Amino acid sequence: MGKKLPIVIWGNPVLKMKAKEITEVDDELRQLAEDMFETMRADNGVGLAGNQVGVLKRIFVVEVPKKDAPSQRFVILNPVITKRSKIKETQEEGCLSFPGIWGPVERSCEVEVQGIDLEMKPVTITGDGLVARAIQHELDHLDGIVFVERMSMLNRTMLNKKLRELAKKTKASLTRA
Ligand code: ZN
Repeated sequence: MGKKLPIVIWGNPVLKMKAKEITEVDDELRQLAEDMFETMRADNGVGLAGNQVGVLKRIFVVEVPKKDAPSQRFVILNPVITKRSKIKETQEEGCLSFPGIWGPVERSCEVEVQGIDLEMKPVTITGDGLVARAIQHELDHLDGIVFVERMSMLNRTMLNKKLRELAKKTKASLTRA
């Protein structure tokens, strides 16, 4: 069984760091994957990356519920996007590390991602719609890139005040801890 982990919020430097390749799958990592699923579900997210629970390892989980077909659930380690459609679409996007912040982000409609699973076996996953969006969003996290950086300058500027306030609040709580 997984347990809910605290989610890292914007203002914490770990969200701007690059996660490291995974070379070994052990019980600790398998537990982390379970905990990440639990954490994501508890907050109704569709994806969660290692950085977001303070673990700088190249792992992310995706779970898109059935009502948002096509439904998909997977965990992937050391993911690399191997194909992306030239066709893109813009949709409102949010992130569990940015509570209350939403904005339009342009993403490829369809992607293929390759990596390894928890048995260290190679996996290839293709996704479109919300799954494709989640894959691109989570892979960015592992490279220290957050979704607001993918917004147009105008949209990002409109969120600047909220982002600054969120970061300030997080930094204050980090110094207290
Ligand atoms: Zn996110």
